[in-house]
Amino acid sequence: MTNNGNAGPVDVEYLAVAPGRGDIRNRATVSFSDGLIGKIESSSGSNGRGLLAMPALVDAHDHVRGLHHIAFGAKDQTFEVWRAALYAQPPLDLYMNCALAFGRLAQAGVGSVMHVYSSINVERMAEDAEIISRAARDVGVRLALAVPLRDQLTLGYADDEKLLALHDPRDREFIRNTWLYPFPSPRTYMDMVADIARKVEGPTVSVQYGPNSPYACSDKLLQSIAEASARDGRRVTTHILETSLQRRWANATYPKGFVRHLADLGLITERFTGAHGIWLTPDEIRIMAENGAQIAINASSNLRLRSGIAPVSEYIKAGMRFSFGIDSFSIDDDEDAFRELRVGHWLFSLDGSPAPMSQQLLFEGWHRNGYRAVNNKEGYGEVMPGAPGDLVVLNFDSMAYDVIDGMVDPMEVVLTRATTRHVKSLYVAGREIVREGKVLGVDLEAIEREVIKMARARGEHMRSLRPILERTQKTLKSFHEETFPK
Ligand SMILES: [Zn+2]
Repeated sequence: MTNNGNAGPVDVEYLAVAPGRGDIRNRATVSFSDGLIGKIESSSGSNGRGLLAMPALVDAHDHVRGLHHIAFGAKDQTFEVWRAALYAQPPLDLYMNCALAFGRLAQAGVGSVMHVYSSINVERMAEDAEIISRAARDVGVRLALAVPLRDQLTLGYADDEKLLALHDPRDREFIRNTWLYPFPSPRTYMDMVADIARKVEGPTVSVQYGPNSPYACSDKLLQSIAEASARDGRRVTTHILETSLQRRWANATYPKGFVRHLADLGLITERFTGAHGIWLTPDEIRIMAENGAQIAINASSNLRLRSGIAPVSEYIKAGMRFSFGIDSFSIDDDEDAFRELRVGHWLFSLDGSPAPMSQQLLFEGWHRNGYRAVNNKEGYGEVMPGAPGDLVVLNFDSMAYDVIDGMVDPMEVVLTRATTRHVKSLYVAGREIVREGKVLGVDLEAIEREVIKMARARGEHMRSLRPILERTQKTLKSFHEETFPK
């Protein structure tokens, strides 16, 4: 480390100055100053040979789960049924679980993470926020923490007591103890967010309002969130219209239009990020676009949970901003951000699409819009003096092992082949946090071993929950089929 915590200069053979816009500079040395990109100079020696650098990626929607869902039996299936399996999520050391996920994301070239936290333990929230922030700072990624807010429909798309009564009598007490709690008032929630912000916000950590999903919040709560966000400028991150069932619920509950209703409450502004947005209508996309709101697309998650494919060509036609998230559901369950980038690129640029995903839009999502969604700041996505010092360096030569010189743009090779294993180093705010593919701030392998050990130690208890899960999932499935027919 030199220069006030800034890493020394980075030499590369290719510098993707503005990915998606074609500007590649050959043989460059990038230096950092005060956490920002400092000078960019031409280099002549052989330092940095075979390396390519570009702005670090941004994960605009994630749940930061070090222990993957399938480990505790939450196998991929339709979202609503999958969600019930979260009942069995074993209690883990929060710091280790988060450090593990942040570390994997850093190894994947992600410099900024939107953590949509989903605890219902309001009493512990401030303490948890401090632990989560410490994990992010130790790994070195930028963090936005969405503080979870909800005050209705915890169990699904109907009154909690009504849904609880449908469940097997043997399971009701367990479900109540696991998921239901006395909801704080909107005022108490807003004070809680302000308190957490005071405790954890800093140069690389910020806090957002995190209504879990608009259906899980009363109008009064949503309005308080909209007002508080307008007052303090903090962003709002939520899930929106992820599944067809949510669409059917929204149609039944708000016949005059769901997003219209949210906009009337003051929620849909340039500070709003909705995750998924698969089932938005063109009209709702227009409302989002007009208000400068954005959707965080989670393409692999939407495939794995059978939710659908987001109407991204409609987003593009309407000029709506969008970013990308991994949602703790990457295509191979490994937090590989470059693979997620590739899935989105292919899925949304199919021949016949009225407005295909261009490389420019793809990188605007992974850089500029994502950075805005997470860090609430503009001006990211170009390697230029004064830009945030967030840089991912890839082992380009190992990706291009068979490519004949001069036949293809280096970025085409990145789009086709880059994965976590090609990430050589990652710099965030001018600090090197991954070197030779290894996280520097924490011992990731030891943490992973410990998290798995902790979870397996709960094995007997978890196996005893399995019948409850299966009964619960069956109940929910038939309730949905009867109440919201297709
Ligand atoms: Zn999510």
